[in-house]
Amino acid sequence: MFDYDLVIIGAGVGGHGAALRAVELGLKTAIVEVAEMGGTCVNRGCIPSKALLAAAGRLRQLQDAQTLKALGISVSQVQVDREGMAQHAQQIVTKIRGDLTRSLERLGVTILHGWGKVLEPQKVSVTQGGQETVVTARHVLLATGSYPWVPPGIEIDHETVFTSDDALQLRWLPPWIAIIGSGYIGLEFADIYTALGCEVTMIEALDRLMPTFDPDIARLAQRVLLEERDVDTRVGMLAQKITPGRPVVVELADAQTKELKEVLEVDAALVATGRLPATDNLGLENLGIERHKRGFIPVNEHFNVLKNGEPIPTLWAIGDAIGAMMLAHAAAAQGRVAVENMVGASKTVNYRAIPAAAFTHPEISFVGLTEPQAQELGEREQFPVKAVRSYFKANSKAIAEGEAEGLAKVIYRPDTGELLGVHVIGPHAADLIQEAAAAIATQTPVHQLADIVHTHPTLTEVLDEAFKRASLDVMKSRHQP
Ligand SMILES: Cc1cc2nc3c(=O)[nH]c(=O)nc-3n(C[C@H](O)[C@H](O)[C@H](O)COP(=O)(O)OP(=O)(O)OC[C@H]3O[C@@H](n4cnc5c(N)ncnc54)[C@H](O)[C@@H]3O)c2cc1C
Repeated sequence: MFDYDLVIIGAGVGGHGAALRAVELGLKTAIVEVAEMGGTCVNRGCIPSKALLAAAGRLRQLQDAQTLKALGISVSQVQVDREGMAQHAQQIVTKIRGDLTRSLERLGVTILHGWGKVLEPQKVSVTQGGQETVVTARHVLLATGSYPWVPPGIEIDHETVFTSDDALQLRWLPPWIAIIGSGYIGLEFADIYTALGCEVTMIEALDRLMPTFDPDIARLAQRVLLEERDVDTRVGMLAQKITPGRPVVVELADAQTKELKEVLEVDAALVATGRLPATDNLGLENLGIERHKRGFIPVNEHFNVLKNGEPIPTLWAIGDAIGAMMLAHAAAAQGRVAVENMVGASKTVNYRAIPAAAFTHPEISFVGLTEPQAQELGEREQFPVKAVRSYFKANSKAIAEGEAEGLAKVIYRPDTGELLGVHVIGPHAADLIQEAAAAIATQTPVHQLADIVHTHPTLTEVLDEAFKRASLDVMKSRHQP
């Protein structure tokens, strides 16, 4: 009756994760892609940025003569080959894109190249080179992702004023670059550019830097990642006009009053102010589906698209296009869950247990709530909230590595031991957070986590230490009447 059981529009990590699960569950599946397979993460996001960050991190280590000396090493001369770094990133992109495409082909997923559009909840058109093909499917999944948001007043010329899409190509090294936005993308690029010797000015419109991080973590990150690297910052300032050229002119206004405060003349500007969903011209208007502000597709907790608040049983959406948590692993998890729901499950995604990371040096990671969010929830639902910290400077492995800057912060309920949030800044924080994510996902309380034996000497003992301290508190509070 249908050409396919499932047609997915968008072959990013979300669409890819959904396709893999669909094949496992025996669904005849097609995936529609208008550009490169792999989407943002593989081509313009996680993968190339982490390749550049890997080189930046290595460079930092080799330039850190003091730590090297303490380890008994001296390095005479370190040279950077910008083109080599850019090539490394591009080669990895090509490899991972090829692996991803082959994995779909091997599993028998049909790849349809072209622009996908929903004609009806079970009918999709695919247009390429003026040719339109119409396919039908029992279920249609929208996984069309996102693109960089450029605020009004900022002109992109892709050479001197650009977004992450261009920056990842590392075509040149501007001596002085303004980075607009202090989210994780802005921070990661500040890490890359400062390692390469560029001067960075970071501009944030909100009243504090790194507004999405826990305040303690943001404070330490500000010191380690910005102040100690002489990154100049402007907070509460709106880049209300940026004109490309040589120099690039950045007009900064007070974010509240919009009054012009300062004009910077820099060599380049990187705009990292967030991302918008790629949901235009998808056919949603024809189906009477009203998108959220900024264009995100409305879905219920099972990922059915909503029309007038009611779920459409055969039309689904996931990933950056719905804006719930704009990360690659969140998109893939949503894709798996949506497909399972298509075949009769009733699953949801627990966002509280999905970790996130910034791959700076040192790394930053978190899962669950920040302390202010936890306090607010505690006040609303009438339960106590506490936080403990443990430090890498007391961790043998970190000391031996000469990377003892950083801390772990564990936020929990002293009455039940429930883990509410965990935040880490320090070496390998992005890997360390997984233990906390697993604990939140499995609802393991801190006093049980404290009984788990950690390998010595490892960085994981930083979390072990925090769990043990929190558990003492839980024990104490349980003995109180
Ligand atoms: C610089 C940068 C660094 C990042 N680093 C990380 C990181 O370290 N970790 C992490 O978890 N996340 C990271 N992200 C975020 C991550 O890349 C995204 O969250 C993720 O790619 C979203 O996946 P998606 O499948 O929803 O969409 P996308 O990956 O954007 O894929 C959507 C696909 O749909 C296609 N498409 C769109 N419309 C149509 C249409 N009508 N027809 C056919 N095809 C269409 C697009 O061409 C695209 O290929 C980073 C992002 C950036 C920009």
